[in-house]
Amino acid sequence: MSGHAYDPHCPFCRIVRGEIPSSKVLETDDAVAFLDINPVNPGHVLLVPKTHHLNLTELPEAIAAHLGSLVPRLCRAVQAASGADGFHLIVNNGRAAGQTVDHGHWHIIPRFQNDSVHWPWPHTQYAGEELSQIRHRIERALNSPNAAN
Ligand code: 5GP
Ligand code: ZN
Repeated sequence: MSGHAYDPHCPFCRIVRGEIPSSKVLETDDAVAFLDINPVNPGHVLLVPKTHHLNLTELPEAIAAHLGSLVPRLCRAVQAASGADGFHLIVNNGRAAGQTVDHGHWHIIPRFQNDSVHWPWPHTQYAGEELSQIRHRIERALNSPNAAN
């Protein structure tokens, strides 16, 4: 695990410490939620652990569980306050998935009927044995020693 308490070059670590301003909406001993500075829609919130971990796969289970426990109440509040018809709960993990800030975080993105966000993603289909092969590979990875950390 490559997580550590604080990275002085990380904007979210600096927000957690109050070294750069943010609009916080929720704070616990281990987590902070604040408004995204460039929202997809008004009310777009980021939920972050206070400790610096590169991304979701680096998070200790206890911290992941704590952040997960905050999600329903936080999402209800975002939806009520923004008047949204729905929302996305998204993690961009890694550059290929669009992650730009290397301090793992959840996006809560309010959605409105007929807003201008492009959705859904394109879907594809499995060919031949592809589905069962990837299923077995995931099961094997889950049961390998490295995946248990
Ligand atoms: P990612 O692309 O890594 O999943 O999301 C990073 C998000 O952080 C982006 O939506 C971006 O607008 C937001 N962001 C980046 N820097 C700051 C900042 O200094 N303050 C706030 N409030 N949001 C930020
Ligand atoms: Zn950080």
